[in-house]
Amino acid sequence: MDRLLFLASLFVAVFAKKTFEQHKVLRINAEDEAQISLLKELSEHAPRLGLDFWMEPVHESLPVDVRVPFHSLQLVRAFLAYNEIEYDVMIENVQDLLDDEGREMAKYRALPKSTDDFVYSAYHNLNAIYSFMDMLVKENSNLVSKIVIGQSYERRPLNVLKFSTGANRPGIWIDTGIHSREWVTQASGIWFAKKIVTDYRRDPVLTDILNNYDIFLEIVTNPDGFAYTHSSDRMWRKTRKPNPGSSCVGVDPNRNWDANFGGPGSSNNPCSQTYHGPSAHSEPEVKAIVDFVKSHGNLKAFVSIHSYSQMLLYPYGYTRTPAKDRPELHKLARKAIHALQSLYNTSYKFGSIITTIYQASGGTIDWTYNQGIKYSYTFELRDTGRYGFILPANQIVPTAEETWLALMAIMEHTKNNPY
Ligand SMILES: [Zn+2]
Repeated sequence: MDRLLFLASLFVAVFAKKTFEQHKVLRINAEDEAQISLLKELSEHAPRLGLDFWMEPVHESLPVDVRVPFHSLQLVRAFLAYNEIEYDVMIENVQDLLDDEGREMAKYRALPKSTDDFVYSAYHNLNAIYSFMDMLVKENSNLVSKIVIGQSYERRPLNVLKFSTGANRPGIWIDTGIHSREWVTQASGIWFAKKIVTDYRRDPVLTDILNNYDIFLEIVTNPDGFAYTHSSDRMWRKTRKPNPGSSCVGVDPNRNWDANFGGPGSSNNPCSQTYHGPSAHSEPEVKAIVDFVKSHGNLKAFVSIHSYSQMLLYPYGYTRTPAKDRPELHKLARKAIHALQSLYNTSYKFGSIITTIYQASGGTIDWTYNQGIKYSYTFELRDTGRYGFILPANQIVPTAEETWLALMAIMEHTKNNPY
């Protein structure tokens, strides 16, 4: 190759933002188990075809969402037609949505001077979020501090906000953004942080919670992935650690925990979106939380927040054997969802991971539950697939507001039921 051309293409490869021009998201409605197994076969070829399953094929009761790049569209359509599998086009052109999102974000690029001026109804980059945390700590130093629980693979600090009104309290953990492209989760995390400092001493229930428990909030749980969603590939889900012997980068940090690690519902292919990694806790972003949970030793609730599909889930993901606290977890989930729904009538499903969504091994809350943290939950926030991971910014605040009501239900129950 011409030397200059080579350099030019290298430049593009290193610095260019991936475009999703003419990528479509298809919603595939499998009719029966046979069609599901055909789709599972298709998903085995996902890395090679550049397919990105937003919702994996599991059961005919759940739709399958897949982002199909232009170059594979004919093939996928032919495959579906040949097998008489029905589908709709959910997103005509992914890039159109991303262009809208980018235009919207560009309006709020300037860093605000205080958290009162922060625009909660917009998406922000890592720098803005980290500066938000510092502002919040500065403004509320009696209530909030920032602790660094470790470093990401690319050496970014893993920042956790600690809301505390006294020493030696049991803790409640909330994390958002472990999957980096689930932008509504980090945006909701920011809103939660502001909500806590606003409501402390005003809302009696939250005040009571904070007078007895510390709340730990990790807003950007996968900062390398998040930075990468802004700089290079908006659809990035995994960590950014290279995989020796493979050109594919990253591990699924929600398959990397020591809870039936490497079992069904995780992949041993480094190119897969659900690659479990070389060993349990191999990812520094996961290991940092593991070390924190163990050294703290007194967390009573652990909530890990994802998007999308509108579900509230409890253990287990790797086994059909019910968790020993299943009746209580189920009842509390119902209560939390009821509270959530009361605000905007958003409907949620709830249940154990394996019975409600799919079998997944190595997931966060299976590990935390097995560590003895009874109130271990995972949310899948809005929506149910109209926009998927590209939820318009005008839904951030309503999503955060309704989710907060469910979080309050879980935290209040935790406080009222010490163990
Ligand atoms: Zn996720």
